[in-house]
Amino acid sequence: MSTLAALRRDVALANRIIEAAGLSNAFGHVSARIPGTNTFLLPTRRSPRFADPSTLLILDFDGNIVAGLGTPNSELWIHARIYAARPQVAGVVHAHPESCVCLTQIGEPHRVVHNQGGPFYERVALFDEIGLIRSRALGDRLAKALSRHHIAAIMRGHGITTACADVRTATVAALFLEESASLQLRMLAAAGGDASRIRAYTAEEAERLDDQLSPGIVTRAWEYYAAISQP
Ligand SMILES: [Zn+2]
Repeated sequence: MSTLAALRRDVALANRIIEAAGLSNAFGHVSARIPGTNTFLLPTRRSPRFADPSTLLILDFDGNIVAGLGTPNSELWIHARIYAARPQVAGVVHAHPESCVCLTQIGEPHRVVHNQGGPFYERVALFDEIGLIRSRALGDRLAKALSRHHIAAIMRGHGITTACADVRTATVAALFLEESASLQLRMLAAAGGDASRIRAYTAEEAERLDDQLSPGIVTRAWEYYAAISQP
């Protein structure tokens, strides 16, 4: 299998994973930069559940379709402008997971409350603008909010975007971030809404869990989620 064929397979699978894991339903999309080019793979405008390696589009960073048939997802600008701004990023996930959305609307920043949350310590940006990212200007603003040290942005009333060195890591990061937000919400509810009762990890504690998005962990998580997301 060629490198591009393998990447197509991974992108399609990543899309199916975010739907199967409940991060998305009819909406949401995962992309990957094609190495050595100013282009990326993105599904057509359908639920990520239906992503298929053979129908992925190739787009450039100006939003043009370079190859493939069909209409791209309307929030293509998320992907195009992050890849343009962040040369080290080769995988982007955009989804609308409910727990992350809830956090944005109760004035609670994301906090590290369990081990898989460790890598996110001070690496989650808040993007405060509501609405879909359907223009180049909005894509640029999101890319700017998602600065070099961030793994993810939580988008108010909307969802999340993760940006990582490869598509598998970006996918696992999205899964871990939603898991973290879900736990944080449950802890907050169990504590009667008193955020001060949550024993969020300190910087030093989070540092000890910084390896939770390392290649070994990502490989194991990907293997599992791939297995439960086959068509
Ligand atoms: Zn969206």
